[in-house]
Formats: sequence, C-alpha cells, structure tokens
Amino acid sequence: MSIDTPAAPETELEGEPAPEGSQAADVAPEADGLAATIAGLRATFDSGRTRDLAWRRRQLQGVIDLLQQNEQQLVAAMAVDVGKPAFDAWLTDLLTTRDEAAYALEHLDEWAEPTKYKVPVVAQPGTAWTQPQPLGVVLVIAPWNYPVQLLLSPLVGALAAGNAALLKPSELAPATSAAIAALVPKYLDPDAVAVVEGGVDVTTELLAEPWDHILFTGSTRVGKVVMAAAAKHLTPVTLELGGKSPTIVAADADLKVAAKRVAWAKYLNAGQTCIAPDYVLVERSVEDRFTKLLVDELGALRDGAEPASIVNGDHVARLEGLLDGHGGEELLPRRTDAAARTVDPVVVREPDPASPLMTEEIFGPLLPILAVDSVDDAIAFVQARPRPLALYLFSSSRDTERQVLERTIAGSVCVNHLVYQCAVSSLPFGGVGPSGIGGYHGKAGFDTFSHHKSVLRRPTKGDLSLMYPPYSKTVQKALRLLTRWPKQA
Ligand code: NAD
Repeated sequence: MSIDTPAAPETELEGEPAPEGSQAADVAPEADGLAATIAGLRATFDSGRTRDLAWRRRQLQGVIDLLQQNEQQLVAAMAVDVGKPAFDAWLTDLLTTRDEAAYALEHLDEWAEPTKYKVPVVAQPGTAWTQPQPLGVVLVIAPWNYPVQLLLSPLVGALAAGNAALLKPSELAPATSAAIAALVPKYLDPDAVAVVEGGVDVTTELLAEPWDHILFTGSTRVGKVVMAAAAKHLTPVTLELGGKSPTIVAADADLKVAAKRVAWAKYLNAGQTCIAPDYVLVERSVEDRFTKLLVDELGALRDGAEPASIVNGDHVARLEGLLDGHGGEELLPRRTDAAARTVDPVVVREPDPASPLMTEEIFGPLLPILAVDSVDDAIAFVQARPRPLALYLFSSSRDTERQVLERTIAGSVCVNHLVYQCAVSSLPFGGVGPSGIGGYHGKAGFDTFSHHKSVLRRPTKGDLSLMYPPYSKTVQKALRLLTRWPKQA
C-alpha cells in the first residue's frame, strides 16, 4: 500500500487520454446519454476487468491520489458550497476518505480471500467455502453536507469489491459536484466509474434503472423514495439516513470535557452533520452546572472559531421555524441571516418534547437540553422515540455505560466523545430502523458491495452406492448415530 502520491498530472482534463480502457464513460450524460453511460459501465463490468485485484488496487490508489493532489481545489469547492472552514473540510472530508481508501488498500487481499466452512456428516466428504464476488454496477447517491466523503467513501467499498459504479453527487453542493465530476475520470478508470450530476429529476431517472445495488445517503424522507424505486427491481439497498441523535450526560460525567465536546460536535459544520448531537438529556442534579458550561463553550466557539455556513436560505428559514414555538428558554441570542446563510448557535433549555424542535431532525446549530431524573429516564426517553443514527453517553461509570449500551438501540455509540466513531475505518458505520439499513466503512463496505457466494465441492471418486436409495438399515442406523439423533422410544 502506498499513500504517497506522485506528482499531479500536468495535462488539462480535456484531451487527456483516459487512464484505462477505451471509451471514456465520463462524458456528462445528456438525456439519452444516461442509458449509454450505464450500458458502458455494464459492458466494463461484464468484461471482467474490475474483478482483477490489481485493477482494484489501482482504483483505490486513484482515490487516494485524487484527494491528496487536489486538496486545495476540493477545500475551495466546499467553502463555496457550505462555507466549510478549510481545516474542517480537510479533516472531515478529505482525510477520513483518504484513510478509508488506504485501509481498504491495506486489507484488500485478506478481504478477497475465500472463507472455509465446516461440512456436516451428511454432506461429507466435501469442501465448503464462500467466495466474495462483486455485485455488478452500483449506484451511489450522496448528500451535500460532507459532499466528498459521502460520495467517495462508499465508492471505496464498491471498488474494493470489484464493482463498476455510477456516482450522483448532491446538486446542493454544485461546486464540489463539478470538481468531482472533473477529477474522477482523471484518476479512476473512466469506463468503470461515471459521475452524473443533477437534481431530483436526474436522480429519479437513475432510480428507474435496474442497479445491482444502491447506496443512498440522505434524509429518511428520500430514503423511502429510493427504497420504493429499488423494490421495483428487487435491487438491494444500503440506506444511510438521518434522525435525532441523543446525548446523555450522567451526573458522574466529567462535565467540563462533556460540555466542550458536545459544543464542538454541534458547532462542526454548523450542526449539519448526520451524527451531530441533536439534543442533550442531562441528569437533573448537574443540569445547571452542565448547561452553564455548555453555553460558555458554544459562546466561545461562536466568538472565536470560523463558522460553517448553512447550506441555503431555505434551511436558514427552516431553522428559524424550529426556533418558533418550542416553549423553552433560549440561552444564547438568536441571530440568523438568510442572505449570509448564517445561524448562530442557540441552546434551548426545556423545550416542549412535542414541538418540532424535539420531533424533527435539527440539522443546524440549535441544541435543546432537557433534564431527566436519572439515566434510566434518559434511556426510556430514547426508547420511546425512533431509533437514532448515533447515541452519545458521557459517564465515568462502566455500569452506566453497560446499561445504556444494552438498553438502547442506535446505529452507533461513542462514549465520552462524539462523532469520532465515524473516523474509525475498521468500524462498521450505519443506522438502524428509520436511521438506516445496512452499513459500510472498512470490511463492512467491502461486504456491502460483495455477494459472498457459497460453494460446496464434492469428490466423484469413491462414490458410495449405499448413499443412494433404497438406504439400508445399517446406513440409516449409522447416520443417526453419526448425527447424534436421539434414540426414538
Ligand atoms: P436529501 O435526502 O434531500 O438528498 C440526498 C440526495 O437525494 C441528493 O443527491 C438529492 O439529489 C437526492 N434527492 C432529493 N430529493 C429526491 C427525490 N424526491 N427523489 C430522488 N432523489 C432525491 O438529503 P440532504 O438534504 O442532501 O442531506 C441531509 C440529510 O442526510 C439529513 O437527514 C442527514 O441526517 C442525512 N445524512 C445522513 C448521513 C449518514 O451517513 N447516515 C450522512 C449525511 C447526511
């Protein structure tokens, strides 16, 4: 594995020879060009080229090179689209994705190995194994909030498993979408990986096609649209969706560290993170102390750290709407500006649990905080609501940790920090129930895009006629004995 990148290609994109294969499938597809693009991908897959492990390694290295050699261009595009601070964009979009590709490159040989299985007496002699094989041509649809990571990390799994892929970036991150569309054919096999830009109309057209797998990242609402479309072809889906991720702060937590970390995670990307802490449940005995610390930390970030923008004016208006009618106390001044696409962080103490602020995914820098009498009550609060994508717990007690882990159902959990579970490439990432179906990252990504084909091979030599009917009494008796079937009365 190498994560050193050679010098950036010098030539312009246009007119540059395609790195692999013959016809470039990277041409932006016009109406009927879409069918041709998909047919091209399928022809590439059917040719067998993508199954070759050396080809897969080149593609994974291509993802690494693309990210490392175009840091400035990609960071600048994300600044235009979501006003992402440069370091955040590097950390959360580029580094995480590079590490995902590097991890896959390092482990590909081992993942691609067949797995042997024990053969029971009735099927002996024989050898049983599964061998992973690619699914075919897969579709990856991404949202705008981490527009590089959420498009290319799924691609890492797809390529490691040997698939051809069509990528649909989000139209709400147009600069990043255009940058990716220009860079992908330069670094990856253009006959096997295509980028199609566009909005709902294009996605709708894509969803009508019979893909071999769809990995969709986005809202729960659109996830249902994707699953309904996929059902028409019985296409398997991985849905990486959203929801309200709770943070439980127990009385025995290190409150200062908890406040600092919760504030950081909420401020990151202006709260537009699928696994952002949506709301806090704090034990009543430490509520005042924790709330003050939290307000101080968020206020300090607001005053001292570069903020990310809200993606567009509609979302600013949506967040303003969530602030109306919550019935709680706002602990930081409400400052929103639709034209500048900014919303300052606001802590809302004791909002009405039935208000939209507490029933809809916030996806912005607003942080409700509710007091609970005990961790048990916090668990009951979480259990009574849709299963979240992430759950966070701050506590110094392993017993509390065990209770929360056992009694709540969530896509992932981070204890005593937030969000970083997503940066562990070896750890599967995904939701559960309305926050998602399936997962990826590391081997889980390889498995998502693979079919583990079961094979049993049996010898023909020494074919025993006693194993065919009519079965002798001795054979019947021997088999019952060998399979430890209890004697009948
Ligand atoms: P979205 O669902 O609006 O859009 C995602 C993608 O779906 C885009 O590419 C868009 O073009 C397409 N799309 C939108 N409407 C469609 C329709 N009617 N038919 C077909 N395609 C359609 O999501 P978003 O606003 O881009 O992202 C925010 C949401 O994504 C939040 O709910 C967030 O929690 C979730 N999210 C989840 C994860 C995760 O890993 N689980 C990561 C990031 C964001």
